[in-house]
Amino acid sequence: MRPDAPRPVRQEPREIVELRSLRTAHPELADAVDMQIELVTHQRRLQARTPTPVLTLSRTVVVARLEQGERLVDFEAIPLDWSAARQAVRATADILHRHNSLDGDDHTVITALVRDAQSFERLLRHWYAETSASPARRVNPADHRADYPGILDQVCALALRPFLARSAEAMTQGIDLAQWMRPYCPMCGAEPEFAAILADETRLLTCGRCEMRWPWLAVGCPWCLLTDRTRLRTFTSPDRRYRVVACDDCRRYLKAYDARGATRPVLPNVDTIATLPLDAALMQQGYG
Ligand SMILES: [Zn+2]
Ligand SMILES: [Zn+2]
Repeated sequence: MRPDAPRPVRQEPREIVELRSLRTAHPELADAVDMQIELVTHQRRLQARTPTPVLTLSRTVVVARLEQGERLVDFEAIPLDWSAARQAVRATADILHRHNSLDGDDHTVITALVRDAQSFERLLRHWYAETSASPARRVNPADHRADYPGILDQVCALALRPFLARSAEAMTQGIDLAQWMRPYCPMCGAEPEFAAILADETRLLTCGRCEMRWPWLAVGCPWCLLTDRTRLRTFTSPDRRYRVVACDDCRRYLKAYDARGATRPVLPNVDTIATLPLDAALMQQGYG
């Protein structure tokens, strides 16, 4: 290449580009955006290094599991390299700490946990096992780790995402998720993190842990399963791009990107940050 030739520009992923423009449009979200860019960059790098797992479930088992509401990705099917996983938890905790989303004490506890290989492995197995049953049959997830900070769940979910996303990606090939019709993730069993409205009667739920997307009822609370429209309240962002459905029975809510007529598809890594002001408004109204 000639010395004066323009340097090739590495194309940034769409979500990073969108996060940067979100920061320009909403300087008040700059801190949250910066943290998200660091997290996403770290996750993408790790995911690129993570191998795609070889699937061991037969077609018959897959169909049976989908029918019975059992998630498809078993712990053993996650291409987990333990030392990479420990490093990922550590790096995630560092990023959250640097951006004041994880206090010093909690950061110390989490980094100590990561140093103890056996405890860490035990914890991760428990953490994943908690979501093996449908939410109605789940035991209190906090029991076995009452001594750990509450935010550990979130740290693990963020840190393990590259591994879980690889499994989900491999598993989803040739599978029709339309028959699942449950409000928790068909791949990893987690609760939905976000949603996208694709058409008047079509809503996708998205998983914050493995990035899977699957269709569910257009109207309904994914936590208590309420479908009575009079008890489900809808809030809309000023630009009408986001909608929140809040449940007056269980007081939880789900945010959604309204993709109808939009210029881009849902990008949960961007949309969860763009909707932080909605979270604040909802919390003020007593939802959580
Ligand atoms: Zn999932
Ligand atoms: Zn509810």
